[in-house]
Amino acid sequence: MLLLMLEAGMPIDCVITADTGMEFPEMYRHWDQIDQLLYQERGIHLTVLRHPKGFEWLMFDQPKEKPRTLATREALGVPLYGNGWPGIRVRWCTGQLKTHLITKEVNRLKKEKNALHYVGIAADEPARIKDDIYPLVEWGITEAQALQICYDRGFDWNGLYEIYHRCSCWCCPFQRIDELRKLRRHHPELWKRLREMDERALGQFGTSALGRFKDNWSVEQLEQRFSAEDTARKEEYQMEKDKSGEIRDLFKGVPPKNVIIAVDDLPPKTLEQHIQEQRKAQKHPKKRGKTR
Ligand code: SF4
Repeated sequence: MLLLMLEAGMPIDCVITADTGMEFPEMYRHWDQIDQLLYQERGIHLTVLRHPKGFEWLMFDQPKEKPRTLATREALGVPLYGNGWPGIRVRWCTGQLKTHLITKEVNRLKKEKNALHYVGIAADEPARIKDDIYPLVEWGITEAQALQICYDRGFDWNGLYEIYHRCSCWCCPFQRIDELRKLRRHHPELWKRLREMDERALGQFGTSALGRFKDNWSVEQLEQRFSAEDTARKEEYQMEKDKSGEIRDLFKGVPPKNVIIAVDDLPPKTLEQHIQEQRKAQKHPKKRGKTR
């Protein structure tokens, strides 16, 4: 939206985003790129709003004050500080780290400067439309089209959106299991931090709702699951490699394209095709397990 507004010469006095402190490193680099562009085009900087104490303070250290909360926690034997993992019923993170900060600043600008608020919701996200101005909706631009527009202009988040379906907080407990599998593979340093956070949450809140990363999965259990999947994949690959080696030995000296393999009721193929398929499978391993 911002790129198209700049291109259309629309007035822009301030561009606001909120940083939860748990964004991907690629997102911070993207914000730097946007900041440079804004300065170059309009002489302004990106305004990044942050909670003064941040995600981990809210999760582990914020003292609870409401008498009812204190009484419930005492009854359950849960510590009187920290909000624990965000849950469906208490999604404290979005409110405190994003919505509250942005709403407060936008309301100030509306009141003091009579500002208009443009929001980058796409045309295929109607549920998120409220009573601000939505240029992408007016222009009929979907989320996928908006992403392509950014790519076409050289903004690619270093490939982040090619890996992940959503790119908000890397530690979000609401993300799909498959996204966490990708986090472990593509961002092992963040996965390590997530394991540490979950260990701390379990130590502080036990297996109460506040200490549970997901209803049925702790991060450590996910680590074991993903690690077992890796081992199975490696074994499968090794077996296939051994099988191919045996076949190759058997037909030593015969060109692979002249050797036909026919197994059970599968269509026959040449040894050459089989080798190519194995190489392809090695490059793009099959996904395993459920995604949720
Ligand atoms: S992405 Fe997840 S953890 Fe981050 S603010 Fe949103 S709901 Fe909370």
